[in-house]
Amino acid sequence: CESCFELGILTEKELKSFARTFSQCLAEGDVIILSGEIGSGKTTFVRGLVTGLGCSEEIVTSPTFTLMNVYACSKTVYHLDAYRLNGIEDVFYVLEGEIEDRNGVFVIEWGNLIDSYFIEDVITVFFEHEDEKHRKVRLRVPSKRVSRFRRCLNFG
Ligand code: ATP
Ligand code: MG
Repeated sequence: CESCFELGILTEKELKSFARTFSQCLAEGDVIILSGEIGSGKTTFVRGLVTGLGCSEEIVTSPTFTLMNVYACSKTVYHLDAYRLNGIEDVFYVLEGEIEDRNGVFVIEWGNLIDSYFIEDVITVFFEHEDEKHRKVRLRVPSKRVSRFRRCLNFG
């Protein structure tokens, strides 16, 4: 895959550290889909990401009842969990205006369930259980954004 990055098998600390670095590569309006089973590290990744944007990781909670959490960091972070949404209509309802305004970054746990909603290119992070303490992490970015991420993540 031309626009994929193998981040390797990461500990929790390494995953958060990667998410911090990754946060520096983001531009307003970016949509990041987090794909992986229960406990694979999606919320953990969001914790790292917000610290990279100057927030404390404690502000991150699972958007279980709220549908969407909004964190006012150096960029506004919209944190959703598509598992709780009833499909595409809820996405429209919850965040249509915000996505169109491109005023912040959008991080969507279980976003693979609703990726047909997004016409524009999205960034996807894939998480897989390796063992209790390790997750295999891969990143796929839109092809027209590869050079931005390669430079920013110091890849190749
Ligand atoms: P859910 O689908 O239920 O929202 P999730 O993908 O958001 O799950 P997290 O809430 O991030 O998962 O939970 C990951 C759990 O795995 C945490 O308890 C964390 O401490 C633990 N863990 C162990 N090793 C790692 C690792 N290498 N990376 C991330 N989390 C890890
Ligand atoms: Mg979670």
